[in-house]
Amino acid sequence: MTDTADETDIIDGHAVAADIIDGNAVAADVRGAVAGHVETLEAAGVTPGLATVLMSDDPASETYVSMKQRDCEEVGIEGIHVEIDADAPASELYETIDDLNERDDVHGVLVQLPLPDHVDKRSVIRRIAPEKDVDGFHPENVGRLVAGDARFKPCTPHGVQKLLAAYDVETEGADAVVVGRSDIVGKPMANLLIQKGPLGNATTTVCHSRTEDLAGKLADADIVVAAVGIPEFIDGSMLKAGATVIDVGINRVDADTEKGYELVGDVEYDSAREVAGAITPVPGGVGPMTRAMLLYNTVKAAGIQHDVEIDLD
Ligand code: NAD
Repeated sequence: MTDTADETDIIDGHAVAADIIDGNAVAADVRGAVAGHVETLEAAGVTPGLATVLMSDDPASETYVSMKQRDCEEVGIEGIHVEIDADAPASELYETIDDLNERDDVHGVLVQLPLPDHVDKRSVIRRIAPEKDVDGFHPENVGRLVAGDARFKPCTPHGVQKLLAAYDVETEGADAVVVGRSDIVGKPMANLLIQKGPLGNATTTVCHSRTEDLAGKLADADIVVAAVGIPEFIDGSMLKAGATVIDVGINRVDADTEKGYELVGDVEYDSAREVAGAITPVPGGVGPMTRAMLLYNTVKAAGIQHDVEIDLD
């Protein structure tokens, strides 16, 4: 998928050169491939199953989980959903995970984060069987990723890798800056970019809340991955001309819209677009890729658990 808007556009009198990286289109390609893998699994007598567990009253978490279930249905993955009262004891969640770990029809187990304060997130992540940990957060899977032998790459950074590949962005020898060091985005992203091999081999700097001179680091970056959680934190003046800018951020800001808000990224899109060589929009960039890679990890899990060969790239 290399179909890009490479003609220079004029917006508000400015020349805009950046290619817009279309996450919806790349995600549709991934979902199409996953649907094919589901058929391969079905032919071998296996229906892949993904269990989602929700222990939260947060409407955003409820929305995320229902989107994941809808995505499953669309590609032929069996969705199993369990809801646990947010006030229930942590033991109830542990027992649910133990049951799902045992079930032969469940190949992936995803516990929606964040969890209530009385539940220890680390213990929950460790409780999920590593071979069903389709989020890729279990220490065994984190260790394998760092060692260059990934089983399940975490969905967001894996999705970013797929976007870079789809748009032929050269990572080998590139100077990459990852802004953010979270366990779910920043750290695994940096680990993927430094791996020896295709889609890796980048010279990678990880910036975070204690970084001094972020602007100086960004000024030399060929690839910027922003995962900060601060609306429009990085603007065009901080970027190197021609850089590839991947905006992971999803931030709600008040706006005069029907819902009373709009979604913006961690990058100020309009100014960045004038400088960057390629950029992901928000929404429609990384978000759809995260969802698609969860489906990818689920068919991968089913293939591993039933010893069915599926041709995943
Ligand atoms: P997080 O809050 O866990 O981590 C934010 C990181 O930003 C931290 O590591 C912190 O050190 C860094 N940071 C904070 N202030 C900084 C500063 N002034 N300078 C440099 N770094 C600074 O967040 P997260 O879970 O990694 O998510 C980041 C953003 O990505 C959020 O907007 C989140 O909603 C979004 N997100 C999107 C997807 C997706 O699918 N598109 C997936 C996960 C997260």
